[in-house]
Amino acid sequence: MPFDRCVAPRTGATQRSWPYHIDTHMSALLLDGRAFAQEMRVELQAEVRSFREQRGLPPQLTVIQVAGDASSDRYVRSIRKLCDTLGVAFRLEHLPADSTQETLNATVAGCSADPAIHGILLQMPLPAHLQADQAVWHLDYRKDVDGIHPANAGLLAQGRLALVPNTPAGGMALLQRYNIDVVGKRAAVVGRSAIVGRPMALLLVQSHATVTICHSRTPDLGAILRECDLVAVAAGRPALVTGDMLRPGAAVLDFGINVQPDGSIVGDVDFASAVEAAGALTPVPGGAGPVTNVMLIRNLLSAASENALTS
Ligand code: NAD
Repeated sequence: MPFDRCVAPRTGATQRSWPYHIDTHMSALLLDGRAFAQEMRVELQAEVRSFREQRGLPPQLTVIQVAGDASSDRYVRSIRKLCDTLGVAFRLEHLPADSTQETLNATVAGCSADPAIHGILLQMPLPAHLQADQAVWHLDYRKDVDGIHPANAGLLAQGRLALVPNTPAGGMALLQRYNIDVVGKRAAVVGRSAIVGRPMALLLVQSHATVTICHSRTPDLGAILRECDLVAVAAGRPALVTGDMLRPGAAVLDFGINVQPDGSIVGDVDFASAVEAAGALTPVPGGAGPVTNVMLIRNLLSAASENALTS
């Protein structure tokens, strides 16, 4: 599945061109993930309709959830609602908290073998006694709409067609939506998780940026970030990146979702100082977050089309 299928067209993008020339009183262009996600929902609705017309059935997403808690249940509900809105068939395989690893593996394998299912999402976190790393080997990587299977990670690392994790795919789509071209640019990714930081770095390399991956053992983060035209942050540390660590005019993607004691959500970037230094910035909430779920459906459509080619 080509990476560019993960990316929305450049319609109606901002008139400002990047890298931005910043004067001292200018504040960053805010990359509006809510508006972009809405544009993508309209496109996806049309794509689902045409899939249905051609195949006589909608694409089908199955979520496998073991037990669950309030935030996990909320996420699953939001995916179901999105599927309903777009005309995607949604199915939940709910397993009890005391399910064994064998049961989970068999459920994943069963869904993988079911030709009616086009995409599978293994909902995290799993109860402590279950290993996601084991279960994932029972997942057909062609149905891996979350991009967690080692085969997809390997394909991405090799610069080949892959199902890419939704959050970094959404970050790339936002950059493209706002005509932020990364070719030949210096970029830094803060965070090296398999689901956000690492794939984001690989996608940027794929888009011809020169990329530095920073992490918890990186000394003097600011010294690296100040050299970069693009900074993507996924560390889970509120206000880790401040305006003085940014190159003036840099584009900044803040993937952080940190729930504060008062229930509000902040990113990993200190918004007040970064908005003065950056040229473009994703706010939290309302930036990278809303794009993530719609990228799941983009992956589902890619998976459904791919299966059609291979089955
Ligand atoms: P993770 O805990 O798996 O990884 C965090 C990474 O940050 C690690 O690689 C670590 O080395 C690095 N890090 C930690 N402290 C650091 C420091 N002081 N300096 C530099 N690097 C540091 O987290 P994750 O799953 O990658 O998630 C990261 C953030 O992104 C979280 O806030 C999470 O909620 C958010 N997230 C957002 C979305 C979305 O849809 N926008 C999706 C997944 C995760």
